[in-house]
Amino acid sequence: MAERKKIESASENTVSNIQNAKPVGNATGYRVGAIILWVLALVCEVLAILLLFGKINITFMNTLVCLIVFIVLDLIFLIIGSQLWKKANHIKPASKKNPTKFWLWNNMGLIVAVLCFCPLIILLLTNKDLDKKTKTIAVVAAAVALLIGGAASIDYNPISAEEKEAAQVALEGTAVYWTPYGKVYHTHVIDEVMGHTTEDGKDCPYLNRSDSLTRGTVEEAIAAGKTKLCSYCQRHDHIEGEGIKTDDVSEP
Ligand SMILES: [Zn+2]
Ligand SMILES: [Zn+2]
Repeated sequence: MAERKKIESASENTVSNIQNAKPVGNATGYRVGAIILWVLALVCEVLAILLLFGKINITFMNTLVCLIVFIVLDLIFLIIGSQLWKKANHIKPASKKNPTKFWLWNNMGLIVAVLCFCPLIILLLTNKDLDKKTKTIAVVAAAVALLIGGAASIDYNPISAEEKEAAQVALEGTAVYWTPYGKVYHTHVIDEVMGHTTEDGKDCPYLNRSDSLTRGTVEEAIAAGKTKLCSYCQRHDHIEGEGIKTDDVSEP
């Protein structure tokens, strides 16, 4: 069995190796935050374009440095905005009954990433005033930013309103557990604090106890980005329910 890591909990005055989940938060708040940050990202792109066309003049920096600064700021705002958007999608997922909205909601980050860099890349490539070196470096920087920003904006673990509801119904009143870098949440976990043991006296073998472990509701697990139920735990704990998202690859 994996070695237990004991973490002193300051607030509860008990020794626990499992932390409680943070409150889920408000989806609308996250969406508003995402939109504000995306607008700031687009403002940075517009500033870069204005600079390119000589509409603004920054005297204390050369054009290339200035372009790179705007590209980096554009990327930072994009990435933070996309993380907030993904979080909102996990708290309040779109319904699969509306395929257009479902697609749009889950791909919004990627769409914004394209909007944040593609116009600038095109205008850089077609620009005739820049010297070759400045142009090449700026295009490469913007293209790399597009790739990083796009990859960071994709939700690799999307969930629909229906899948979330199915999980909530099947796991109502049940504590679930997850690790910071895991993709799934587990139920087959020994939790001494909660007085919860497992039938075989062992943790789920796919749970890495050496990582810090979080305990919460299924809603909190999904909000934390763990959108799938561990299929080992599902089988061992006989969790029934149509449409629960699991990591079982054999399922459609
Ligand atoms: Zn498991
Ligand atoms: Zn069990």
